[in-house]
Amino acid sequence: MNTNDPASVSTGPTQVPTQVTVITGGGRGIGAATARRLAQQRSGLNHHLVLSYVANADAAQSVADLVTEHGVGASIVKADVAVEADVHAIFTEADRVGRLTGLVNNAGILDAMSPFVDLTAERLERTWAVNITGVFLCAREAVKRMADGPTTGSIVNVSSRAASFGSPREFIDYAASKGAVDTMTVGLANEVAGQNIRVNAVRPGLVHTDIHTSGGDSERVDRLAANVPIGRGGQPEEIANLIAWLLSDEASYVTGALVDIGGGR
Ligand code: NAP
Repeated sequence: MNTNDPASVSTGPTQVPTQVTVITGGGRGIGAATARRLAQQRSGLNHHLVLSYVANADAAQSVADLVTEHGVGASIVKADVAVEADVHAIFTEADRVGRLTGLVNNAGILDAMSPFVDLTAERLERTWAVNITGVFLCAREAVKRMADGPTTGSIVNVSSRAASFGSPREFIDYAASKGAVDTMTVGLANEVAGQNIRVNAVRPGLVHTDIHTSGGDSERVDRLAANVPIGRGGQPEEIANLIAWLLSDEASYVTGALVDIGGGR
């Protein structure tokens, strides 16, 4: 579903392809905040955001509407990042509207809090499928399109401080999936550094989004805020600022970095 924009926009005597950033899970939480931030930052710069969602079309559409109000193109694509054909649909839309320069590999899931001994094979497979396979597939499709491009491509993987803490008694599966994202970030960054692509990860701590409701404790951020040196949970916009910076040319010498953003925790 598209909300606007042709494949390229005339900006003078030559046609400059529209630059495209894909944000998986761009309809809610950190992904939506990143879309809003990029809309401000790229306003009037011939940019287009492809926002994927898996279930909440209305949320994704309202973010897309807001993005277009800033003069930035926006499309929404229904896609489960764990399904390869769905991932292809996201990038087919990116190809339709312009040239891919950014990927925010943000979509992720958190299952209910569980002791390690109760983790089922079914749960583990779903966590790996969305949080690892989905991130790998999206990065693979992005690299194919960004390699040796005329402008630097930038991939930002959304990992978690949980990769370091391990999330005992809560979600060791989730934490381990983010550990895999960190390892992929470092390896891929090295592999494609010579192809004009930067790859980094952000590792948020406790951030006020709906993901904690999926984990079974909507009050989790406030409950644990006392453990955060800054004394509060983070806002999605604070994570979005870092992601937007890593996407931008201001971060031109940053690659293979795992950037913690957890209020000191
Ligand atoms: P959120 O508010 O629950 O949003 C998750 C987003 O991911 C939604 O847009 C959702 O789409 C999408 N999504 C979920 N499963 C998907 C799938 N299988 N395929 C495609 N999209 C899918 O979560 P959030 O807190 O913003 O999380 C974003 C990222 O930040 C995740 O990778 C998470 O692990 C990471 N993170 C969050 C925190 C935190 O405290 N919030 C901390 C560290 C890291 P729908 O809207 O269609 O459901």
